Amino acid sequence: MTAPPASAALDVLHRVFGYDAFRGPQAEVVEHVVAGGDALVLMPTGGGKSLCYQVPALVREGTGVVVSPLIALMQDQVDALHALGVRAGFLNSTQTPDERRETERALLAGELDLLYLAPERLRLGSTVNLLDRSTIALFAIDEAHCVAQWGHDFRPDYLMLSELHERWPSIPRIALTATATEHTRAEIAERLDLTTAKQVVASFDRPNIQYRIVPKAEPRKQLLELLRTEHAGDAGIVYCLSRKSVEQTAEFLTAQGVKALPYHAGLDAAVRREHQARFLREEGLVMCATIAFGMGIDKPDVRFVAHLDLPKSVEGYYQETGRAGRDGLPSTAWLAYGLADVVQQRKMIDDSEGDRAHKQRLSQHLDAMLALCETVECRRVQLLAYFGQRGEPCGNCDTCLTPAETWDGTVPAQKLLSTIWRLKKERNQSFGAQQTVDILLGKKTPKVEQFRHDELSTFGIGTELADGEWRGVVRQLLARELLAVGGAYNTLQLTDGSREVLGGSRKVMLRKDPERTRTRRSTSKP
Ligand code: ADP
Ligand code: ZN
Repeated sequence: MTAPPASAALDVLHRVFGYDAFRGPQAEVVEHVVAGGDALVLMPTGGGKSLCYQVPALVREGTGVVVSPLIALMQDQVDALHALGVRAGFLNSTQTPDERRETERALLAGELDLLYLAPERLRLGSTVNLLDRSTIALFAIDEAHCVAQWGHDFRPDYLMLSELHERWPSIPRIALTATATEHTRAEIAERLDLTTAKQVVASFDRPNIQYRIVPKAEPRKQLLELLRTEHAGDAGIVYCLSRKSVEQTAEFLTAQGVKALPYHAGLDAAVRREHQARFLREEGLVMCATIAFGMGIDKPDVRFVAHLDLPKSVEGYYQETGRAGRDGLPSTAWLAYGLADVVQQRKMIDDSEGDRAHKQRLSQHLDAMLALCETVECRRVQLLAYFGQRGEPCGNCDTCLTPAETWDGTVPAQKLLSTIWRLKKERNQSFGAQQTVDILLGKKTPKVEQFRHDELSTFGIGTELADGEWRGVVRQLLARELLAVGGAYNTLQLTDGSREVLGGSRKVMLRKDPERTRTRRSTSKP
């Protein structure tokens, strides 16, 4: 196979896309695919993945077939290509039969440079038949992590993509994703039969994003303060776990004079479309959303991404925060995280369907996320390490800007754990964090008196810490599984690790939660 001269790709880049040069590893990928090779490309959001298959599709003979789960965005993607004079079409379930027939005709007539395809279409014999009768330049598999069960966004339809190679062995395939640990990457390669493909991994660092993870107190107020002091009038995304909290947050912000809209899967498709369009079109709009929002959305000037609830995995966190600052300008990734998040997420995993291996996987994801929250090291270094990349302390995250202190929390941890142990042993009871902390602080609340917990020998032995500090201790012990939650009421329970702490064979170094002061952006003026 002889590749067209390298200048063919550059020519397309200049002429069609109007760019001067390839960026980062684009040139290497494009050259390889133009020459007919397979590739697995890992690039952060905003890294420029699209050109990696669009340019080869235009250089090679035939149509580039792009498999993508982002059905809602296909029309926009195709419109954008039309505006550049590229002949593009798509096939998915939102079309009328007439529209579909027209696209199929254009494909067979060789009138398409790019065809976007929803993965489920490949399940249809008619689609396979159609592709058999057309000239295909390449297959691009976008959002390739959807094939990995290990990842956070598995889609069963993606499993069929392994058949592309069996059916069309001579057509080059390029799989692309913005999120992949070693583990996910190996799984993608394995499942898509790309183990011998060229792997290209761009740096995952997003230096213009400032990472900050703060203890959660009154999350909406904390968010408002962030918006008022640093992001007035900026466009941003606020992620919440539940639809209800999405609605409430949007209402709260609106009442405070911030232009905000809700977005979640429970809203009407038309409403969702309208809100998304407004977010893209208008300036300074804040989108309050569940994680249903954002994949594939290319808005360059998102100045902040805020999480009011803990993401389930580092991969999810990275992908969601990655929607900030695609234009390269300073942006904030802000997450408020607290004790209740840990309790809730552990509980959700317990209650989740699926076998033990599945729950274990969810647990490992959560543990990595918790480790990122509780680290006293540079957040960016920790984040990059998760993706198998090395970095230096960045100077642009909260722990770099305001180094977190650690303190020896062994004795408080023992006081807490022994209270839980006594409740169980002496009373056969278990309670949640609040009651346990009240006992340690020696608070005679009605509930303490009702259960006569003031008679426990650990009553009032913990006055050296304030209520919030105790909650920080509980949270960090939970995060490290030195404590667990269980039972119908999410009560605190001991683990094997707790026994080591109680027995004195394990020391507990804790992160000192910062006072609720703002970490100001290093570049801003006082
Ligand atoms: P990804 O899919 O990796 O998130 P995109 O392909 O959407 O990223 O590209 C992100 C942005 O960068 C787009 O606005 C795109 O036009 C721009 N871009 C990509 N490659 C180049 C390049 N070589 N030169 C200039 N701009 C580029
Ligand atoms: Zn840092």
